Amino acid sequence: MFSSFLIKYAEIGVKGKNRYIFEDALVHQIKCALKGCEGSFRVSKTPGRIFLDSGSDFDYDEVIDRLKHVFGIWGICPMVRLENMPPEELYAEVIKYFGETYPDRNKTFKVSARRANKSYPLDSMELNAKVGEALLKAYPELKVDVHEPEINVTVEVREQIFLYSEMIPGPGGLPIGTNGKSMLLLSGGIDSPVAGWMIAKRGVKIDAVYFHAPPYTSERAKQKVVDLAKYVSKYTGPINLHVINFTDIQLYIYEQCPHDELTIIMRRYMMKLAEAIAIENDCQGLITGESIGQVASQTTHSLLVTNEVCTLPVFRPLIGFDKEDIVAISKKIDTYETSVLPFEDCCTIFVAKHPVTKPLLSAIKKHETSLSEKIDELFKTALETREIIEVTPY
Ligand code: ATP
Ligand code: MG
Repeated sequence: MFSSFLIKYAEIGVKGKNRYIFEDALVHQIKCALKGCEGSFRVSKTPGRIFLDSGSDFDYDEVIDRLKHVFGIWGICPMVRLENMPPEELYAEVIKYFGETYPDRNKTFKVSARRANKSYPLDSMELNAKVGEALLKAYPELKVDVHEPEINVTVEVREQIFLYSEMIPGPGGLPIGTNGKSMLLLSGGIDSPVAGWMIAKRGVKIDAVYFHAPPYTSERAKQKVVDLAKYVSKYTGPINLHVINFTDIQLYIYEQCPHDELTIIMRRYMMKLAEAIAIENDCQGLITGESIGQVASQTTHSLLVTNEVCTLPVFRPLIGFDKEDIVAISKKIDTYETSVLPFEDCCTIFVAKHPVTKPLLSAIKKHETSLSEKIDELFKTALETREIIEVTPY
């Protein structure tokens, strides 16, 4: 029965003079999210409100699912749009709406009327009373509860009149594109997809880089990362995934450097390569899934040494999260099942039995000098031979 939706947004509402930028971005993101859905749609905005109207048959569940992936949406209210009409006719419409929406009338309810159109003959208070009265008369099983009603029948009287009573929660956050762009270091693990999702939720557009080490890591490990990027892209829109062949750099570090420092030196090169790609693609930051103390390369000492190679800010949204908290989000965003598939990522191949947990920056830098002969060339080749996969959500 619903062909219109009121889209509620939260944080955008407080953006003052810049509000229109956020609203326009949200309208744009809603349009992008609906691309490929069956049906024709119109997204429009009036002050403080965004509407989605369908002009033809559409798959309700599909549309709701798409909207649930659009950052900036606080709630989706399926609504009935009525032409302006006198009160008596409006009561009849509300009764009809209620009857069709709630077959079980053994409920508590209240009416929340808002008269924005001051020329309407009844004000908000009068509407509350009269519409409530009409509903009670039509459905005597109903009970009024103004504090915690099961059903809140909202009647907004504007140029037209809107009726709605449900709000399907959206993901919150800010629309993609309102906060620049960052480069996600995306591995096949649980953490990095969640980290990317969290930063994207603040309106940041995302591209990604994956370090692949064939033949030590398989094609399936790479496919797993593409699949993860696909899940994340349902929220972020298309992601350019840069797949870097990291094998030669990794082997060279393995040959030249102390084995207990392998991971940390390797991570420094990952960050450097990611930063080069980030800068080339106009990103303002890098994103990783690091969390303090999770593994040897994520102690505060290790993070200091890894971070030292970067000039861009590194966003680490999971830094204070316990693993269970991260797992909970990865389940919510549907990446968990894929993340736990058992394919090695390139970090896990060359790990030493006892990696340093308190690397000393000066020692690491000194040991890195033994890479000086070939590393620049390898670095350049890694960048030049990368594969770029455009990952789209559907
Ligand atoms: P994740 O679950 O995200 O794989 P992790 O707990 O396995 O993380 P590490 O392997 O130490 O931790 O990696 C820390 C971070 O470095 C990851 O969250 C990711 O951002 C980045 N990273 C690690 N390996 C790769 C890779 N092969 N390609 C791209 N980024 C990587
Ligand atoms: Mg990992």
